[in-house]
Amino acid sequence: MKYISTRGQSPALTFSEILLGGLAPDGGLYLPESYPQFNDADLTAMRGMNYRDLAFAVLSRLVDDIPAADLKIIIDKTYRADVYSFTRPGQNAEDITPTLKLEDNLYLLSLSNGPTLAFKDMAMQLLGNLFEYVLAKTGQTTNILGATSGDTGSAAEYAMRGKKGIRVFMLSPHKKMSRFQTAQMFSLQDDNIFNIAVKGVFDDCQDMVKAVSNDHAFKAAHHIGAVNSINWGRIIAQVVYYFKGYFAVTQSNQQKVSFAVPSGNFGNVCAGHIARMMGLPIDKLVVATNENDVLDEFFKTGVYRPRGSANTYHTSSPSMDISKASNFERFIYDLTGRDGEKVRELWSTVDNGGSFDLKANGYFDQVKDYGFVSGSSNHQNRLNTIRETQAKYGVTIDTHTADGLKVAQELRNPNVPMVVLETALPAKFEDAIVEALGTVPERPTVLNGLEDLPQRFDVMDFDAEAIKQYITEKTR
Ligand SMILES: *Cc1c(COP(=O)(O)O)cnc(C)c1O
Repeated sequence: MKYISTRGQSPALTFSEILLGGLAPDGGLYLPESYPQFNDADLTAMRGMNYRDLAFAVLSRLVDDIPAADLKIIIDKTYRADVYSFTRPGQNAEDITPTLKLEDNLYLLSLSNGPTLAFKDMAMQLLGNLFEYVLAKTGQTTNILGATSGDTGSAAEYAMRGKKGIRVFMLSPHKKMSRFQTAQMFSLQDDNIFNIAVKGVFDDCQDMVKAVSNDHAFKAAHHIGAVNSINWGRIIAQVVYYFKGYFAVTQSNQQKVSFAVPSGNFGNVCAGHIARMMGLPIDKLVVATNENDVLDEFFKTGVYRPRGSANTYHTSSPSMDISKASNFERFIYDLTGRDGEKVRELWSTVDNGGSFDLKANGYFDQVKDYGFVSGSSNHQNRLNTIRETQAKYGVTIDTHTADGLKVAQELRNPNVPMVVLETALPAKFEDAIVEALGTVPERPTVLNGLEDLPQRFDVMDFDAEAIKQYITEKTR
């Protein structure tokens, strides 16, 4: 299995070769040369599997340059009940991503029972173990540099803490994350984790990361790595739970299931698309956005129009506040019949601040063949959905999941199971829950007092040279 770029001008590489990098040299994103296929007999065999065996069944078809026995060990060490332990009453942590039935044909898929209470743990924990394995094999080290507004940074740090050969340098906007998110990250005392609070906003942090990445000499000399949402290792980890969710709510492979996905960078729902391409009987993939509705606009009109950071809203579902959807190119590559030249042409406009319209050239008519539909929510919609879900089902959900559930309820076919991906637990976004329900959401007891733990971080000006100097000092 080789991986190729969506822009068609980079050499095909193996999984381990693309794992540590980001974009392909031609600026594209990696995808497998072809999607492995699961037929009816395969699905039947997978139906009864536990999460770890299911993950191996899926991932071993996408990763062929890590010996199967080693891959199995990595997976078994990643998906353990004691790592994904923040279950709701009645759920079994052994399921890793248990479902929660709200009513007939309406379910939540709990993806946020891991250490940082958001679905990003599902992929990042695997990445941590894969990185450690691949680095040990080649005797390399990596210094991961990232920017976060909250969820990505904490998931990355909890996945990489204490790992050999890996250091994490995470930039976050000083005093702009929630108290809980700040405490989660800054209370880590591991000496391979470096929290840097930048005097600025999230975009400033991202600009500093970009500036370092564009300094090719520095990047090479300091083995700078990334774990952002385009990382292929993250995507494949996310494919697994679509299978798990499908089997949990069906009795036979003849049934179809729809998934509703609170979306920002299109990473999570892209994994659903890949699961579908691999043969999972998915009916609809519901793309749910917040006020930053660049994806909803595309799936309704055929126009993809990234907004630019100045036109990005700060919402009560902050982990979906994006100006462009980094993984969207992967779907467009498939939509155009894997036409790298076409993708290059479309993104030459996008990369220069423009937009494209797929209505005129007929591509947009084919979007429905891939099952995509979309909708969006605003702050008031999310608060209402949180209140209704509490009143009707006795379940507290967070603002991101509320976005998914709101759109799912609008678009669902009552005869087809609808699985809403729960992308964060409410404890992570307390303020919005207090606003909606007037009460503080329950939090896992081990996290009580988190905000009182000693914090370890450095404050830095918005200055790319300063972060380079910092990395140089810390890695000497
Ligand atoms: C990252 C995140 C999302 C968006 O996921 P994408 O893969 O970027 O589409 C949604 N909800 C939460 C809680 C997140 O952390």
